[in-house]
Amino acid sequence: MDLVIYNTLSRKKEVFKPINEHHVGMYVCGPTVYGDGHLGHARPAITFDTLYRYLMHLGYKVRYVRNITDVGHLEHDADEGEDKIAKKARLEQLEPMEVVQYYTLRYHHAMERLNVLPPSIEPHASGHIIEQIEFVKKILDAGYAYESEGSVYFDVEKYNAKHHYGKLSGRNIDELLETTRELDGQTEKRRSIDFALWKKAAPEHIMHWPSPWSEGFPGWHLECSTMGTKYLGETFDIHGGGMDLMFPHHECEIAQSVAALGHESVHYWMHNNMITINGQKMGKSLGNFITLDQFFTGNHPSLNQAFSPMTIRFFILQAHYRSTVDFSNDALAASEKGLQRLFEAYGRLMRLTPAENSSVDVKGLRERCEEAMCDDLNTPIVISHLFDSAKAINLVADGKETINAEDLKELQNTWKLMVEEILGLKSEEGSSSVNEAYHQAVDLLLNIRMEAKKNKDWATSDKIRDELAKIGFVVKDKKDGFEWSL
Ligand code: ZN
Repeated sequence: MDLVIYNTLSRKKEVFKPINEHHVGMYVCGPTVYGDGHLGHARPAITFDTLYRYLMHLGYKVRYVRNITDVGHLEHDADEGEDKIAKKARLEQLEPMEVVQYYTLRYHHAMERLNVLPPSIEPHASGHIIEQIEFVKKILDAGYAYESEGSVYFDVEKYNAKHHYGKLSGRNIDELLETTRELDGQTEKRRSIDFALWKKAAPEHIMHWPSPWSEGFPGWHLECSTMGTKYLGETFDIHGGGMDLMFPHHECEIAQSVAALGHESVHYWMHNNMITINGQKMGKSLGNFITLDQFFTGNHPSLNQAFSPMTIRFFILQAHYRSTVDFSNDALAASEKGLQRLFEAYGRLMRLTPAENSSVDVKGLRERCEEAMCDDLNTPIVISHLFDSAKAINLVADGKETINAEDLKELQNTWKLMVEEILGLKSEEGSSSVNEAYHQAVDLLLNIRMEAKKNKDWATSDKIRDELAKIGFVVKDKKDGFEWSL
């Protein structure tokens, strides 16, 4: 089965063919570390984590690079204003790298709770200043940039005369020239759409490095072109990120690579859609800016309750990554219930005992799930296949249907693969090994009780049942054994 993914650049689904048969290079724009780890960070992390997991499942060796933007910069215009990390550090008298470390650790902690696997390489922009300066030199040598008062700008108009600036986001330069205003203090740029490759640092700017042009710092778009090609080669397979980064960030990355290297670097551009909260865009000024920690603790005025990391992950995977996702208390509560049902069925499946014959048709689940994953990572369809299969599992568990050993093994393996390894969902009762040990311990007690009943040792049998009931276990006796739930 071929993996098909939607390539933003060609605007169509394409069969994924890596440059090297066995290796995949994947770059995803990571977080800017200032500010709190918020919900917006969760979606690209989970989307590309799922892709990472699936590529490895298909047998590829994947080098996954996800950067940390720690050279400050404003979110939408890297050219202006004081670097946010620098500002916070100046106000609180911290080393800038203290601020970076604080947010990086918080981000990692949130990612771990969301069961997002760490990337293979997590480069910091601040650790690649020399490489970025070299990249600027290449663009200058190629004639696509100019120096102005200690800063270096990319000459968009000159680039566009030969190449298409705006090809990724489907814009053209005339429309961009019309919509970009000239801003005060930007007179050193030739055109409003030119973007900074290197910026001379203002005196209050405390993060700066020496360069041939000035004491300054690199433009935001540059770090991804530089670090992507440094670790994955001049051309590599996949570049991902949120849709909000398509313009100008990724557009500028393409222009920088073409200017410096003479060709584009990326074969497949992939973008996850955005998250809204109660139908609104998320933003600090709208008062609906909720951090991941606030979701996990429920500590925010617009949340009715806490939502666990796995509920957040499941909720995000219930939508296709290219559709929007709207967060609301009701939708999250529904996901919480759905996830619970999924794990109940999973738990029952792992405890089923096989019969001689199968009366349920459980074949083909794995193929159907793989088909959905291969169709541009259609995780909501995978989840619906699992819920369909949960119906059969529940019927067998209730004694209404039977399943033979071979079908049971296949079903258990498919659930484990899809639920845990590919969707990256885990039971929140504890780690799976603890969970397993706990189930085995309860089973052990109930087997001792069966022995006792056989020996007419009613005292022991009743004691085990009553004590388990006190803790909250419901034990049902069955013809050939028992069933329990908590
Ligand atoms: Zn980036």
